[in-house]
Amino acid sequence: AEEQLRQSQKMEAVGQLTGGLAHDFNNLLTGIIGSLELLKARVAQGRLEQVDRYVTAAQGAANRAAALTHRLLAFSRRQTLAPKPTQPNRLIAGMEELVRRTMGPAIQVETVLAAGLWPTLCDPNQLENALLNLCINARDAMPDGGRLTIETGNAWLDDRTARQRDMAPGQYVAISVTDTGTGMPPDVVARAFDPFFTTKPIGQGTGLGLSMIYGFAKQSGGQIRIHSAVGRGTTMRVYLPRHLGEAEADQAAPELATALRA
Ligand code: ADP
Repeated sequence: AEEQLRQSQKMEAVGQLTGGLAHDFNNLLTGIIGSLELLKARVAQGRLEQVDRYVTAAQGAANRAAALTHRLLAFSRRQTLAPKPTQPNRLIAGMEELVRRTMGPAIQVETVLAAGLWPTLCDPNQLENALLNLCINARDAMPDGGRLTIETGNAWLDDRTARQRDMAPGQYVAISVTDTGTGMPPDVVARAFDPFFTTKPIGQGTGLGLSMIYGFAKQSGGQIRIHSAVGRGTTMRVYLPRHLGEAEADQAAPELATALRA
C-alpha cells in the first residue's frame, strides 16, 4: 500500500510536471512563431533593418525552451540516484570557487565548515547540484548584494524534534545556505517546493529548483526546511542522514552520548 501511495504521488508529480511543461513551452513557442511571422513580413516588405531584432527574439525564446527541456530531463533523471559515502565539507570546499564566481562581486561568500562533520550517504553530484541551486536562488534574492553563508553541522534529532520536522529521529548532517536577501512571505514558503511554482519572470525561473532539491533530500532519507524573514533573508537547511561505516557503527553509541551532551 505504501509503494502504491508512493507511485501515485510520483504520477501526480509527473502530471503536474507535464501540465506545467506544456504551458511554459507553449508560451515560448508562441513567442518564436510570432517573431518568425514578423520576420517574414518584414523581409517581404524589404524592411531589413528590423530583421535582426526578430531573429534575436526568436533565438532568445528558443534558448530558453532548450534550457527548460534540460532542466526537465534533470528532473526526470532524479529517480536514478547513485548514493555513496560523501563528506559534505570536502564537497563544499571543492565548489567554493564556483560559488564565488556565480555570486559576483557584490555578494560576500562565507563558509563555516564544522570540524568532525559526519559523512553522509547520498549522490554527491546531486548534492552539489542542489547546493548550487540554493546559492543561485540566494543570489537572485540579493539583487543589491549581500552575504551568502554556507554552514555545516552535525544534528542529533530526538523523537519530538524529528516529528516536528517530519523526519525520522536519528543522526543527520545539516547543510545551511543563508542569504541576507528579500526573504519569503508565508504564502511563498508554503508553495516553494511545488513543481513550477516561481515568482520570477517568464524565462528566468522554471520553479523546478526547490522541488528537485526536495525530491533529492527525501529520497536520500533527509529533509529540507525553510527559515525566512521578509526583508531580512532566508536560510535553506538540508538534512542528510549520517553514514556509518562498519567500524563507526560499532562505536556509534558513545559518540551519540557525546552529541547529546553537546
Ligand atoms: P525558481 O528559482 O526557478 O523560481 P525554485 O523552485 O528554485 O524555482 O524557487 C521557487 C520560488 O521560491 C522562487 O521563485 C522564489 O520566489 C522563492 N525562493 C527560493 N529561494 C529563495 C531565497 N533564497 N530567497 C527568497 N525567495 C526564494
